[in-house]
Amino acid sequence: MSLRRLMLLLAHLGAVAAEPGKFWHISDLHLDPNYTLSEDPLQVCPSAGNQPVPSAGPWGDYLCDAPWRLLNSSIHAIKEIEPQPDFILWTGDDTPHVPNEQLGEEAVLAIVERLTNLIREVFPGMKVFAALGNHDFHPKNQFPAESNNIYNRVAELWRPWLQNKSVALFKEGAFYSEKLPGSAGRIVVLNTNLYYSSNTQTEGMTDPGRQFQWLEAVLTNASQAGEMVYIIGHVPPGFFEKTRDKAWFRESFNEEYLKVVRKHHRVIAGQFFGHHHTDSFRMFYDDAGAPISVMFLAPGVSPWKTTLPGVVNGANNPGIRLFEYDRATLSLKDIATYYANLSQANAQGAPHWKLEYRLTEAYGVPDAGARSMQQALQRIASDQHVLQRYYVYNSVSYDVRACGEACRTEHVCALREVSFGAYAACLRDSAPSPLLAAPLLVALLGLRALLAP
Ligand SMILES: [Zn+2]
Ligand SMILES: [Zn+2]
Repeated sequence: MSLRRLMLLLAHLGAVAAEPGKFWHISDLHLDPNYTLSEDPLQVCPSAGNQPVPSAGPWGDYLCDAPWRLLNSSIHAIKEIEPQPDFILWTGDDTPHVPNEQLGEEAVLAIVERLTNLIREVFPGMKVFAALGNHDFHPKNQFPAESNNIYNRVAELWRPWLQNKSVALFKEGAFYSEKLPGSAGRIVVLNTNLYYSSNTQTEGMTDPGRQFQWLEAVLTNASQAGEMVYIIGHVPPGFFEKTRDKAWFRESFNEEYLKVVRKHHRVIAGQFFGHHHTDSFRMFYDDAGAPISVMFLAPGVSPWKTTLPGVVNGANNPGIRLFEYDRATLSLKDIATYYANLSQANAQGAPHWKLEYRLTEAYGVPDAGARSMQQALQRIASDQHVLQRYYVYNSVSYDVRACGEACRTEHVCALREVSFGAYAACLRDSAPSPLLAAPLLVALLGLRALLAP
């Protein structure tokens, strides 16, 4: 090859690498196969439990998990908005929020298969990296640390997306790692359901499925090979931002996960999780307090209003999100979140999927890297206007109430602190000062004395 041709080839490769890549992240589709427009408000959807659903529409209801036509619309919307992403991340929770007795192993597998087929039909040949959610098992949450029928069957369902060695690994523990297509990077798909405190199968274990040991090795090898890594999973570490003191991981697993991120942050270019159904993120810091990594939590496609105690009006509009990244370094450039307003969809006869916001515009930051997200967090914490904007996006523009002082504390502490101890300290430090509370107490006691008979 002549030097000139070599130079041309290198220039061409450089241009390809310099073009920003794109990938989709979808999560928490939660199909309710029995959603129906019944005239009896108690017969609309099993996922509403015993709450009546008085004004259900054809595209779904905030009290219910997603009807098939909403999910079908969401997958076609992502095809329409960006038909050629480099790959798709799908972080689980496919089945409805109903008691175990209303599902069963075959019903769970049938729903995973239905959604897998939908994505494969709309995106033939596309690389999809999929993780299981805590609802993608029977009984729900009870993921074993070893091979079982569900891991085996799902590995076969996802075989078209996986390399053979990933299929084999998935059958053992529902986690795997592969090279990313179109870039120099690698993806790690974790089964963090093993760390969920509701999972009694892994209680008392220090490293269920030896996933931490495996992760440690994958990240060490990536570092030696000069690869950057994206980590995805369903249940995230840290705390739920819509209430107080609600963590999902057992504390020891939470601290272990944090340790891994702190040790290997130089090769971790991004973390992508779901489970909250909300649009949020989590910061990770080194010992000196410098931001080193970010976990992005994707909103749900299901609009289902959570029944978690302590959460008020916790529904969301269906959301989907597109990441822009640098193919050479995997650094995250921007996030475009798209959504459909569900009440409008029902009123207008069809969902209209549109851009909700771009991260860089909303928070005035240059990209979606750790330093930029720390800036975004500082603005959310200190500027009421930015806090309110974040709060509305958190529910995908469903809940537009004002986010007051208690709300600010809950969100900011959850965004900032993933460790149990630091989160508790953050809540404590944000509590109203006793110096301010004391005069109020004196005044109240005085008032009581005056009113006493
Ligand atoms: Zn979910
Ligand atoms: Zn979940």
